[in-house]
Order: sequence, then structure tokens, then C-alpha cells
Amino acid sequence: MTQTTDPVFDLTVWGPALKKYGDVVQLSVALYGADEQMVCGPLPATPIATIFQAHGYDPGVRAECLRACLARTSDDRSPVVVSTASQLAVVGVPLQLDGRTVGAVVAGYSLVNFCDSAAIARLARASGTPFPALWAVARSLRPVPSRRLVQLGELLQVLVDTLLSENAHRRQAEHAARRFSHLAGHDSLTELPNRSLLFDRLTRALALAHRHGRRLALLFVDIDRFKHINDSLGHALGDGLLQLVAREISQCVRGADTVSRYGGDEFVVLVTELKRAEDAGEVALKIVAAVTRPQTLAGHDLRISVSLGISVFPDDAQDAETLLKHADLAMYHAKDQGRGGYQFFQPELNVRAVERQSIEAGLHHALDQREFTLLYQPKVNLKTGALAGAEALIRWQHPDRGLLAPAWFVPIAEDCGLIMAIGRWVVAEACRQARAWQDAGLPPTPVSVNISAVEFRAKSFLEHIVNILNETGLDPRWLEIELTESVLMGDVTAATAVIRALKALGVQLAIDDFGTGWSSLSYLRHLPVDAMKIDKSFVQEITTGSNAGPIVSAVINMAKSLKYRVIAEGVETVEQLAFLQAEDCGEGQGYYFSRPLIAQQFARVMERGTTRSGVQPFS
Ligand code: C2E
Ligand code: MG
Ligand code: MG
Repeated sequence: MTQTTDPVFDLTVWGPALKKYGDVVQLSVALYGADEQMVCGPLPATPIATIFQAHGYDPGVRAECLRACLARTSDDRSPVVVSTASQLAVVGVPLQLDGRTVGAVVAGYSLVNFCDSAAIARLARASGTPFPALWAVARSLRPVPSRRLVQLGELLQVLVDTLLSENAHRRQAEHAARRFSHLAGHDSLTELPNRSLLFDRLTRALALAHRHGRRLALLFVDIDRFKHINDSLGHALGDGLLQLVAREISQCVRGADTVSRYGGDEFVVLVTELKRAEDAGEVALKIVAAVTRPQTLAGHDLRISVSLGISVFPDDAQDAETLLKHADLAMYHAKDQGRGGYQFFQPELNVRAVERQSIEAGLHHALDQREFTLLYQPKVNLKTGALAGAEALIRWQHPDRGLLAPAWFVPIAEDCGLIMAIGRWVVAEACRQARAWQDAGLPPTPVSVNISAVEFRAKSFLEHIVNILNETGLDPRWLEIELTESVLMGDVTAATAVIRALKALGVQLAIDDFGTGWSSLSYLRHLPVDAMKIDKSFVQEITTGSNAGPIVSAVINMAKSLKYRVIAEGVETVEQLAFLQAEDCGEGQGYYFSRPLIAQQFARVMERGTTRSGVQPFS
């Protein structure tokens, strides 16, 4: 007997209902699908119908009835009756769902009394039921007079209709219930188990692993720079990307493992039955390789990468929460290590996480306690050696840790939103200082500030700049804003609008760390920026024999042809300087000229009009 999960074809529904049906010798009832295959049945309709079924009925007759039922259009639900000259009749009723004939219910009847004492005796022996009891039942069953067959058909139809409408409700209810429980356990976008289902499975897997002394691993997967991709390509493509990554990851693991969407662009893979902890690294490598393959999504060629963190039971933690936390920490470590790779959890990471928390806690008071200061690093004209400007660089005078560079706290401030207040302070302080220098009679010098992408995207950003310029009275042309390319990877239209508005104010704009991001010069050319800062990683490789030299020359030449000022960052050696001068790079900044200075020291550089080193090699 076939049993399907669809309640329309559910034997437990049909069986009792049909049993109620008549005191006549109904030999059997069966449900057929539109393909004429029996879906369920034959159901013995009476306690001893099996005996009669043994006699069977002409399969040709049944097939004829079935086909006639299936040929019914949806508005004709009348029963089909096929009787034979012999002792059997078949009655069928089409089964219609949502206006379509999807199958038929076919019942066989005996037209004559079938009390066969020999057959009843066989059944009595086989079932262990006393013969007289069975015989009494058999005698009580009446054969169907052929004139009643149509009536029987109608009765069958009412029954089918009733069952179907009950089932329709039940089906809807069950469908809704199934959907709900699926939703409760699954993520609707990727169809992957969600966080709560993962947790259930993890808890169960941990109990099993514990009992059988087995290992298991959690892989925490995060798509690198997903936010930028999502913002720049649009959310529909972002969704497509998540689905694509979900598929790729799923194909890298065994059926017994769980791939779940943990939230946003995070996936967690539960790998059970792990022999050695290192095997989890192989799964991680497989995932990295699969995701890193060039992908095409809605006509866009994409190169994406993921960072993975791995924690292993029982090596790294005993319980689900800690295991997840450790995998997450390891994932952040993988990101720190340059993304696109994986890292196993190490106990030291816990120390770092605690440190991160303490930094965040301290950041909340740092502004009130006036613990931030700005240093100013000179930018120098590479032809003349004249001071060309200053870049304001933030430092945090931490009460316990001493002077902290931005790498220590800016990313944390970005994560917790404090960067907004800090950024406002930086701009205000730099503008105030620039104005104070001018008021003190020093030669006006452009001062640049770094704006993080998080700050730049805030709705109030532009307004704050306007207010600060008004309050400090600094002429906007002395303020330069340094933006990294990541600012431009977001909502390009919105970013462009803000850049144009800044430009309209008279503020100068520079692209910072050029070469480390994604954008090409041809893309940037549509933006009204004034300057391009070549990232120090290129500058520092100029003289190391790598191919950074040609890249730097190309960037300088392109930037010049687009009429941008070019500033080389991180100039440390005389060789680098000579190369940049030969390539006719406009400005330089770096330890070769000067380290970042406190305001009073910088004032002396302004007085002199050049840094102590000057620009020796050229002149
Ligand atoms: P950046 O804007 O590219 O700043 C240049 C960084 O290179 C500074 O690091 C500077 O001290 C360092 N540097 C300058 N010359 C040399 C050199 O010759 N060799 C080497 N190795 N490094 C050199 P710093 O001050 O640690 O700042 C790091 C980054 O933090 C900055 O990179 C900028 O992106 C960010 N940052 C700094 N101040 C602020 C701020 O006020 N707000 C925001 N949002 N970000 C800031
Ligand atoms: Mg900068
Ligand atoms: Mg830079």
C-alpha cells in the first residue's frame, strides 16, 4: 500500500470514512492519481472484504471506469458506473482539486451474495477468528442490486466531496502549519536552517558527540565586504549573492552536516563526526575555494571571498554558546589576517576579545574626558620642497594603555557607532586649529581630515560639515576631506550627491589609500575629487623589485591626465623619493619628511614653510 504525505490521499482519513459506507458488499475502494496509478488502496471496505477481494474483479472493468472518471471535466463530477454481466460492478467518482481532475476513487461491488463457505473457512483459519462469527458477518452483507449502483455512486460522490472539503481545510491548515514550522526553523531567503534550528541541532549533536566520545566542528563563515557589495549592487543582487553562497557552502559538506544562515551575511556550518580537528580545515578550504571562484550573478561578474573561523568540540569548548563564540572570534581573526581564509580558534583570541570590550567601554568616556588629540603630518611639494598641507591624524591618550593609534580604536568606534561623535570632534578640532593658525598669522595651509565610510553615509554628515565651517569661520578651501574608496562602493548615487555638495561648498576632496580598494580611475573620474593619495603599500614596494613601480607610474600618469593632484603616502626613503620625483608625482607624505607632529611642532614647520628634511635628492 502506498501512502503519501498529502492528506487528500491519506489512508487514515479515507479508511474509517469509507467503512461507514453501507452494509453492502463493497469489495474494495482505491484511490488513483491522474496517471492511473493507485495512490492508496485497495482498502477493504468491510471486515471480511479481503475474502471477496480474493475473487477480485475484472481489471479491464476497473480500468475502464477509472479512465472515464479521469476524462471528466472539472464541472462534471457525476459518478461512473460500469457493471458487468457477471457478479461485479465498479463505481467511480472523479477526484477534483482546485478545479482540476487529479484522480479518482473507484469502488468494486458484488452484485450477488458472495457467501462462500470454503473461503470463509480459510479466512477463519488464517485469522484465528471462529468460523461462525465470520459466517454471520458474511451473511449479514447484502449484495448490491444493480439498480442501486448509481445511487451508490452518488453516495460515494457525497462522501468524496465531504472528505475533500474537509481535507481542503485540513490541507490549508497543514500547509500553513508546515510553512510556519519551516519558517520557524528556516531562513526564508536561503531556505537554510536558521539560528534557532542550528542551535537545536548543535545541542543534540553535542550530546551525541559527548556520549560517543566524538569530535565535531563549527565553522563560522562571513562574506568579506558584503555590506559594500550589497550597497553597491543593490539589495536584490545582495540577496542573490547570499543564495549563491548558501548553495556553494551546502555543496561542500556532507548531507549529515548542517549549513545554517546565522544572520546577515553569516553562515554557520556544523560538521559532525570529525575524526581529527584538522579535517575541519579541509572543509573550510573547500568552502573558501568554492566561493572564491569567479561568479556571475544577473550579468555581473563578481569576485567574492569569505573568512572562516573554526572551533572544535571538545578541544575548544564544551557547550553550544561557547563553541559558537569561539568560532566567531576565530572568524574575526581570519579577517584580521587578510580575509579570504580560515583560522582555528586559539585561546589568545579570548584575551583579544576582552581587550576589545575594554576599549569599547573606554571609548564611551574618551570624548568627555578629552582623551583624543590630533597630530598633523606634513605633505610636501616634491618639486619645491614647500609645505603643501597637513593631514590630521587622531590619537587616543588612553588612561592605561598610553597613546593609541587609530587602528586600535577606529574600527571599534565604527562598529559601535561612536565614530559619529568622534568624527565630528575631529573635523571641528581640525577646523578650529587651522583657523587658529591663520589667526596667529601663519601662512594658510590646507588641513585634511579622514572621514570613515560609516560617518560619510550618515544623513547628518553634510549638515555637520556646514555647521562646523560656520562656527569656526574657516574658509572651506582650507579644509580637505579624505575618503577611502569604500565610501564610493556604497550607494553610488547618494555618495556622489554628497561629494558634489561638499565640492559646491568649496571643500577639497581626496581619495585616500588609492589602489587598495576596488574602484578604477575611470570610475572615479566622474566624481569631482581634487586629489588622489597613492597608498603607502605601493610606495613602499617601489624599490623592493616588485611590480609596484610600474603601477605607481601608471597611477601618477592617469591621475595627472585627469587633472588630479597626486600625493604619495608613506614615503620613507630617499630612493622612493627619487622614483616619485622622476615620475613627476606632485606631493609626498611620509616619515622621510616628517612623522605626524603635535600642533605646536607643526606650527614651526609652517613658519619655516618646509620640513626639516626638505626634498634633498631632487634639487
Ligand atoms: P591614512 O589616512 O592613510 O593615514 C596615513 C597613515 O600612515 C597614518 O597612520 C600615518 O601615521 C602613517 N604614515 C605616515 N607616513 C608614514 C610612513 O612613512 N611610513 C609608515 N609606515 N606609515 C606612515 P595613522 O595615524 O596610524 O592612521 C592610520 C589610519 O587611521 C589613517 O590612514 C586613517 O585611515 C585612519 N585615521 C586616522 N585619523 C583618523 C580620524 O581622525 N578619523 C578617521 N575616521 N580615521 C582616521
Ligand atoms: Mg588619510
Ligand atoms: Mg592613506
